[in-house]
Amino acid sequence: MTTFADLGLSPDILKAIEDVGYKNPTPVQEQAIPYVLQMRDILACAQTGTGKTAGFVLPMLEILGAGRARARMPRSLILEPTRELAAQVAENFQIYGKYHKLSMALVIGGETMDEQIRNLDRGVDVVIATPGRMIDLFERGRIMLNDIKIFVIDEADRMLDMGFIPDVEKIAKLLPPLRQTLFFSATMPPEIRKLADRFLKNPKTITVARPATTAETVRQIFVPLPTDNNWQKREALRILLKRADVLNAFIFCNRKIDVAMLHKSLLKHGFNAGALHGDMEQSERTATLDRFKRGEISLLACSDVAARGIDIDAVSHVFNFDVPFHAEDYVHRIGRTGRAGLTGTAYTLITPDEGKQIEAIEALIKLKILREPIADLPEPQPDTGRSRRDTGARHGRHTRDRNSSHNRHESRPHHEHPRPPREAQHQQPSAQHEQAPRQQVTRATAPINEGSDRFEGDLLPSFLRRPAAIVKEKR
Ligand code: AMP
Repeated sequence: MTTFADLGLSPDILKAIEDVGYKNPTPVQEQAIPYVLQMRDILACAQTGTGKTAGFVLPMLEILGAGRARARMPRSLILEPTRELAAQVAENFQIYGKYHKLSMALVIGGETMDEQIRNLDRGVDVVIATPGRMIDLFERGRIMLNDIKIFVIDEADRMLDMGFIPDVEKIAKLLPPLRQTLFFSATMPPEIRKLADRFLKNPKTITVARPATTAETVRQIFVPLPTDNNWQKREALRILLKRADVLNAFIFCNRKIDVAMLHKSLLKHGFNAGALHGDMEQSERTATLDRFKRGEISLLACSDVAARGIDIDAVSHVFNFDVPFHAEDYVHRIGRTGRAGLTGTAYTLITPDEGKQIEAIEALIKLKILREPIADLPEPQPDTGRSRRDTGARHGRHTRDRNSSHNRHESRPHHEHPRPPREAQHQQPSAQHEQAPRQQVTRATAPINEGSDRFEGDLLPSFLRRPAAIVKEKR
């Protein structure tokens, strides 16, 4: 079996890898690292979770280790579609580069420019940027790109989805033609391949997983609903949340406005939920993610962009509250669970309107997914929330994501989902509920309307339930 030492990495880097505890390179690392070290261009089809970040960070440390940065003239540039991903890459540099003296600057939107400018002025080896802020700073004359030796475009397909390609092309034109370019994408649709052809010179092509393969560790279930009624859809979700042995979950909506609405509804029904979408302040998002990671929030209603690339291993469930518009997003979404050798379950609620999207998903993943309708789903009720179709909300995917957070990789040696930490299991409104085993918790038999007086939170298993203090306040 190949070792990291076989790949040509130096002792400082090998020591840092050993400190993190990685035994062997992943396939993308094994294939990419030797070629990056040879200064070849790379075209890699690899999803998050394959170890692709270390696949470019490790050899970059090696290459940049020999040389020094000059003020405002960084030596390498990494473009990321979201602030979260940029922050994650920065974290990778810190972890693997702990025995190096390389400097870096995060150049991402949603934060003041002052500190970013100060860092650039000092001179950095690596700039990790989102395209919009990068262009802003360039246009203000705060950064020069004529010394860039290595250019990384990460998550190119996501850049395309988010409408960032014109920005990426603009940036590429500002770089010296004699450089090394590393191009990563989870999928390779024709537009991405064309773009790669324009940017890369004689690249080494690497494919580590078939595009759009779903992990075997994820049990996928489609839940067809009889109507398009929004109340019924939320009720279906609530039923599944209570029956499905959920420890924690991402719940995906297609639009930001629906994330906010669903979040509100989950809280109203007593669930311990948070929300993550592109319009939130960065500090709020970081705090929410941290609370989710610590187990203080069990459910996270989120949009595709907000959840993209979040590296949390122990997530027991993914719920697609909406079927994604793009089949590839289905693969990304359900990949949030079943990670790091754990098993996970992905439920997708399907209204009659969403049948076409489902066909596209099954065609893409080349699997026929089990349908499990909810036998005792209550009849539709008037939707007291804002109509999802009347909102006129723009498709969240095309809105620039302005948020960032740090997501530390948490290694989970056990092959089952650990329970949230004890301190995260909130005080319960009644001792009787606290002692009830989760599986035996019965749901309310009568449908509970959004405006109902009954508080469903009392019937939820303890760690899905909102903290007692908030429950009290709302009642
Ligand atoms: P990425 O695909 O870059 O987002 O990486 C996914 C996860 O794999 C991260 O949490 C890394 O810490 C982890 N990882 C990267 N390389 C290795 C390796 N060689 N062995 C084990 N885990 C790794």
